[in-house]
Amino acid sequence: MTAHPPPQSRIDTSKAHPARVYDWLLGGKDNYAVDQVVGERIPPEAKGNALRNRAYMRRAVAWTARQGVDQYLDIGTGIPTEPNLHQVVQEIIPTARIVYADNDPIVLRHAEARLTSTPEGATDYIQADVRQPETILDHARTLLDFDRPVALCLIALLHFVPDEDDPYGITRTLVDALPSGSYLIFSHTTFDEHPQYKDVVTTAYKEGEIPLRMRDRAEVARFFDGLDLVEPGLVTAAHWYKDGPAPEPELSGFYAGVARVP
Ligand code: SAH
Repeated sequence: MTAHPPPQSRIDTSKAHPARVYDWLLGGKDNYAVDQVVGERIPPEAKGNALRNRAYMRRAVAWTARQGVDQYLDIGTGIPTEPNLHQVVQEIIPTARIVYADNDPIVLRHAEARLTSTPEGATDYIQADVRQPETILDHARTLLDFDRPVALCLIALLHFVPDEDDPYGITRTLVDALPSGSYLIFSHTTFDEHPQYKDVVTTAYKEGEIPLRMRDRAEVARFFDGLDLVEPGLVTAAHWYKDGPAPEPELSGFYAGVARVP
């Protein structure tokens, strides 16, 4: 696969980064002392939340792959963590094509070696910011056919986009590029089930200089405006199960849903 670096791709270890804090929460090794400081300041439940979000991602993309969707645009990919999205999808459809995008240079550093496709399919990576959706779409069109369904994955991403950067407008621009029969696969952090952690988490991210805008259920639901949520609807990540109820329903810091483009 080809990775497309921007002019500036230096890894800054003096400042915490969302991808590296998330990697720390998942038990990964691609993080630095500054990221660990943020991770250690937030309640230990955050680790379980991150793992449950990652598990939701795997269930959701496996489900859309079983519906026959063989094209994926995953923005806010994160540091590669096995099994990665393309591995889950290509296990079901070996010819599937996946475009990954993230704005963090550490993801770029690992993408070429660790986001490698099956020989029959294809993966590609662009370092880009979701706040420039047209740039990402232009690139995605070089690998994906937007006349056929595409699954757009915005998983644990938009809580890093503050209101003034118009996360709803960004989502609308991306969704409007998708043909009917496409899907939005989406998750977002919330304090709804953990209100007692609001202050400590907000402070930890603020001091780490990471903008974090957790949203409540109604605010998350707005991201699905105009789309048809599939069962079980907008639920917490731990409850997004298609084959029967979640085995052990747990409190969650993430809302999650999958919606079809009508
Ligand atoms: N989607 C993965 C990783 C989530 S971590 C998962 O759910 O497992 C959030 C990712 O979003 C990080 O890798 C971070 O670098 C990326 N990110 C944060 N803000 C971004 C932005 N404005 N544009 C693109 N990516 C961004």
